[in-house]
Amino acid sequence: QVRTRVAPSPTGDPHVGTAYIALFNYAFAKQHGGKFILRIEDTDQARSTPESEQMIVKALRWLGLDWDEGPDAGGDCGPYRQSERGDIYQQYAQQLIADGHAFYCFATPEELDQMRKEQQEAGLRPKYDGRGLNHTQQEIEQRLAAGDPYVIRMKIPEQGSFKFNDHLRGEVEIPWEQIDMQVLMKQDGLPTYFLANVVDDHLMGITHVFRGEEWLPSAPKLLQLYAYLGWEAPVLGHMPLLRNPDKSKLSKRKNPTSILYYQRMGYLPQALLNYLARMGWSMPDESEKFTLEQMIANFDIKRVSLGGPVFDPEKLDWLNGLWIREDLSDDDFISEIHKWAYNESYLRQMLPHIKSRVERFSQVAPLTNFMYSGLLDLPASAFDGLALDEEQLRKVLQFVAWKMDQLNQWDKEHIFPALKSLATAMDIKMKEFMAPIFISIAGTTATFSVVDAMAILGPDLSRARLRQASQ
Ligand code: ATP
Ligand code: GLU
Repeated sequence: QVRTRVAPSPTGDPHVGTAYIALFNYAFAKQHGGKFILRIEDTDQARSTPESEQMIVKALRWLGLDWDEGPDAGGDCGPYRQSERGDIYQQYAQQLIADGHAFYCFATPEELDQMRKEQQEAGLRPKYDGRGLNHTQQEIEQRLAAGDPYVIRMKIPEQGSFKFNDHLRGEVEIPWEQIDMQVLMKQDGLPTYFLANVVDDHLMGITHVFRGEEWLPSAPKLLQLYAYLGWEAPVLGHMPLLRNPDKSKLSKRKNPTSILYYQRMGYLPQALLNYLARMGWSMPDESEKFTLEQMIANFDIKRVSLGGPVFDPEKLDWLNGLWIREDLSDDDFISEIHKWAYNESYLRQMLPHIKSRVERFSQVAPLTNFMYSGLLDLPASAFDGLALDEEQLRKVLQFVAWKMDQLNQWDKEHIFPALKSLATAMDIKMKEFMAPIFISIAGTTATFSVVDAMAILGPDLSRARLRQASQ
């Protein structure tokens, strides 16, 4: 039976790239009457958060890419969250050492920095030099007994090259000398992506893996691990990455990347899925508009085109418009608007800011209309009459946009201090500093706290409005 998965790391907002990869794995599994699995790859303790996991789950559910097995859905191969599978990885790391395919390395980070520096000075590409392989068995035992910190690395063949058959690209050849002796277990006792991914794909019975092209250089290490462990590897295929219009990798600095942004902007999940499908694939009859069911019925992974697909918001608008006009009945339209705008969860988030401010319900819409808008397309005159001169204004908006880009956690407790420290650094009074931010986000200064508004609107829409205002 075909089994595919999507394996996001919960380290930020749910990425449209994750939805795109999930969609192709989903379509492939369903086309073959197989199963689609959600696995959470949260072994990076410092960067993974439960909130991010919840957002990913919510976003994929909104899109209708339901999984047969996963952290919340259960299944025979659980747990489906890597942080709950620590013992399993330990066991295989030990097996790899016992079989001579992996080794302990006790080098400190400073020692490795020095090593790389020397390599660079000698004109070499910095690369782990295999120093851990020189430890004697006695030394290893002593250092383990003494509790010295260590990592476990995999051995890599010294010569020749690795060839494999990419399901989408055909034969790929990568020289071994380009490949590092990858760390498999980190000092904190947790596995890296490489070990955890291989062990889980095997134990979860994954038969096909379609993932982003950025992972292509890591394929030799993964496939070598399967060989070391004596397991059959799944079929691997590397999908082209989504691109900005300038052809660079789609990134939130140039284009909003959060699925929740597209939800907040009022796109239909069916239209977004349809658009993501068109990014890498076309229907046999080249039709632009199709449902997920139609995609599955006509799917052929071999017809994925490998040129970097450009994610073009204007085309998405056009397609979404088609969906609204052609596929929503009047009743659907009413119910979708109801779900999108007047749903309980969104209203509840705004409630504390509006209930205390209105005397009539008719004041609610004027007070909150910016919470239901996309980009505000403000004229320059919207900023007239502020205390800051034009030069200061431009700087404030640009610096705020940059600062907000760097925030990893998006809530009031992180947004406000970041703005405050910037105001202090720029030596501008908080009130004067905040005014242009109010206008960029809400179109007016006469509304509820802009920090609360940004927290509710989410990072991508807030950033997009700030970026637009700063240009
Ligand atoms: P950004 O550059 O916007 O911050 P990122 O590269 O940091 O994005 P990650 O959080 O590393 O994003 O990626 C989340 C998921 O989305 C990963 O599974 C990754 O493969 C996928 N992804 C990221 N960028 C793209 C892209 N341009 N096209 C397709 N998939 C992508
Ligand atoms: N956790 C990886 C990611 O988020 C999974 C990559 C893979 O599919 O192997 O991109």
